[in-house]
Amino acid sequence: IIKFSDVTKRFGDLVVLDHFDFEVNLGEKVALIGPSGSGKSTVLRILMTLETIQEGQIELDGIPYREPGGHGPFHASAKHLHNIRSRVGMVFQGFNLFPHMSVLRNITEAPVVVLGLSKREAKERAMQLLEMVGLADKADAFPTQLSGGQKQRVAIARALAMRPRVMLFDEPTSALDPELVGEVQEVIRGLAHEHDLTMLLVTHEMRFAREIADRVCFFDKGRIVEQGPPAEVMVNPQEERTQNFLAPYL
Ligand code: ATP
Ligand code: MG
Repeated sequence: IIKFSDVTKRFGDLVVLDHFDFEVNLGEKVALIGPSGSGKSTVLRILMTLETIQEGQIELDGIPYREPGGHGPFHASAKHLHNIRSRVGMVFQGFNLFPHMSVLRNITEAPVVVLGLSKREAKERAMQLLEMVGLADKADAFPTQLSGGQKQRVAIARALAMRPRVMLFDEPTSALDPELVGEVQEVIRGLAHEHDLTMLLVTHEMRFAREIADRVCFFDKGRIVEQGPPAEVMVNPQEERTQNFLAPYL
């Protein structure tokens, strides 16, 4: 469902992805691990069309990111980018809820405005999702009235309300107080059981990665240097760089 082919991404002289190849199958749950600055977040940001690339091609659901004859930094029309974005949901480290909207409105806004759902349909969908993340009683609260863990669970519900094909998580619990990490992990763990949902998770929590991922990819300097099932990569890494990175966790 996702394919990076020979992708190069640079910021000025800095090469962040270096002839990068990467494929993810429908429904796969993939954890991206590796040292700071190795390009993990960049991969997610590119998938979300928040960053352009210099070389190579990316496909999602069989749709190439660059259109033949496309213009602008993305070599694609606004409509084309919109089509791609509508298939991807993303949850970041920070809480990016709309502060002036209730929890419910945070979740219903995009389905109404972007997907054209009726307010009633959007509300029904939102309430189901709030139920799922354990926050049905907070529908009318405002973000400032929520804990970090609650905000992050709303952020997940909001992303899911768009029914994305792919969910991207970039260190979704790293900004949380330790006692709030579990409740967010629990929601993500639940999603990991959804067969058709493809998930990419960037995390420094090795136990969690091991628990939910079908495949772990170890990044170093803009490349995947080792990948495979967690029981192999995380228990018996073959590459020295992976061994050194994982040593503190083993
Ligand atoms: P971390 O574990 O610290 O989050 P990461 O693997 O997610 O690291 P990226 O955020 O993908 O790393 O960054 C890869 C490299 O690109 C880093 O060297 C970073 O400094 C650089 N970089 C990222 N965004 C920009 C930007 N907007 N402009 C310039 N350099 C950037
Ligand atoms: Mg990052």
